[in-house]
Amino acid sequence: MLFAHDTEVSLNATAALVNTARSSGEELPDVAALDAFVAHWRWTGSRTRDQAELDAVRDLRTRLAALWDMTEDEAVVLVNTLLRDASALPQLVKHDGWEYHIHATSPDAPLADRMAVDAAMAFADVIRADELARLRCCAALDCADVLVDLSKNRSRRFCSLTCANRVNVAAYRSRRSAS
Ligand SMILES: [Zn+2]
Ligand SMILES: [Zn+2]
Repeated sequence: MLFAHDTEVSLNATAALVNTARSSGEELPDVAALDAFVAHWRWTGSRTRDQAELDAVRDLRTRLAALWDMTEDEAVVLVNTLLRDASALPQLVKHDGWEYHIHATSPDAPLADRMAVDAAMAFADVIRADELARLRCCAALDCADVLVDLSKNRSRRFCSLTCANRVNVAAYRSRRSAS
């Protein structure tokens, strides 16, 4: 494992959040869609389940998406801003079957603030390890989704198996028709 487990989960969750507004269009159109996202990534803590919460998460999504295009110094400014704005206070906690991991916000902080700080803590690890180059865009030409390559040999190129398979099948077909 490259980073701590909670860091890797947070990085993948951040990429997934960014990808809710990429190749497939708006995938967080309403509170029900946000509920499904929150359940899938096993977010705990308070919810308001209203339009304001959804809007705050979508705004955060836009800010986090920029990380994939930022220099290290720019990413540092964003990470520090996210931590400062939410008055982050890192604490080790254990709950809901997870082993010890860090929460830097209280469970009753707004969902978007908790997501922001979680992502910021994870990216702080990435920056400290000088691994921002692991932030990539999917290598499939028709896909705009992002990914964080957490593989040992830095070999991950696609956002999903779906994209990897589609590109491999296309390459196979073009090899066959050429021969
Ligand atoms: Zn937790
Ligand atoms: Zn893709």
